[in-house]
Amino acid sequence: MKKIEHLGIAVADLKKSNELFKKLLGKEHYKEEAVEGEGVKTSFFQVGDTKIELLEASREDSPIAKFISKKSEGIHHIAFDVQDIYAEIERLKSEGFEILNEVPKEGADNKLVVFLHPRSTNGVLVELCQER
Ligand code: ZN
Repeated sequence: MKKIEHLGIAVADLKKSNELFKKLLGKEHYKEEAVEGEGVKTSFFQVGDTKIELLEASREDSPIAKFISKKSEGIHHIAFDVQDIYAEIERLKSEGFEILNEVPKEGADNKLVVFLHPRSTNGVLVELCQER
């Protein structure tokens, strides 16, 4: 794993949170993007070498809607940048981690992404992402 690529934060209202994080970070988000497959709208802020990804549910059965109703807003996942996502999947499987989607899918920000189940990672939803 190369670095922390971004932190994902579940928010109830993307517009309000864009304003909040603009105040917090002292800069504007650099893009917004919908990921239809995941039922999310995202917004990205660059912070040095890494990013903050705000996630708002775009439909009721979105994983973000479920997360917020169970746990409230807050840190949703941590994403690591990897060189070879397929090799990392094999490596982590052999180490006993539970992969949620063994076939990488299209994530926001032009990435291939895979998630690890929180029950195999001390309760933290881990995302691996590789630049396409
Ligand atoms: Zn993410």
